[in-house]
Amino acid sequence: MRLLLIGPPGGGKGTQAKYLIDHFDIPQISTGDMLRANIQNSTDLGGNAQKFMNSGQLVPDSIILDMMKERLTDQDCDNGFVLDGFPRTIPQAEGLDYLLKSMKEQLDHVIVMDVPDNLIITRLSNRRSCKECGQVYNLIFEPPAIAGKCNNCGEDLFLRPDDNPAIIQQRLTVYHQQTKPVIKYYSDQGLTDVIDSKGTIDEIRSNILLNITS
Ligand code: AMP
Repeated sequence: MRLLLIGPPGGGKGTQAKYLIDHFDIPQISTGDMLRANIQNSTDLGGNAQKFMNSGQLVPDSIILDMMKERLTDQDCDNGFVLDGFPRTIPQAEGLDYLLKSMKEQLDHVIVMDVPDNLIITRLSNRRSCKECGQVYNLIFEPPAIAGKCNNCGEDLFLRPDDNPAIIQQRLTVYHQQTKPVIKYYSDQGLTDVIDSKGTIDEIRSNILLNITS
């Protein structure tokens, strides 16, 4: 199963991807996570990406496409994958098409997570992530058992530098200007399932599964 999750920042892509990878036994490929790992490991790629990420801008398409070209040819992608946060621009979508064609593969579903902007701002400003294992919490909807500590590994939780209100607004603007056209690109190919993503995590998960398995 080759799936793509598309939606605004904080729209729940990462959370839903975790369920989908267990359900279909395929890897999650999150460009945001890959970039943050590069920053943490002080690679050249991470150094180039950091300034764009911290200011709420997109990392240039050429960097993202080079990174994905390598990742999608890894053996664990042979039976499919869940793409989370890629493609975010039309050139990235065209690059992905080219790549998949060269591998004689195609996407099965593009899941569009539909969430209003006001809910995004509440979700993101209350999001906290674990420094160690990457587990994500929400202080309102899914708080950790002990304030400030990860349930899984006990490490400290932190607010991502790009989850502050001014940067969230910038990321939403970028989403509307650059990523929304990607939804049309895929709906023109009849690949999109639009999922109302205002409800609970479980409701959204059931809705996604219903759409892609029916
Ligand atoms: P995310 O974790 O998906 O919210 O991504 C965090 C940040 O990483 C974004 O605001 C961008 O700066 C960068 N990023 C992640 N994925 C992409 C992508 N496909 N294209 C360009 N920039 C990206």
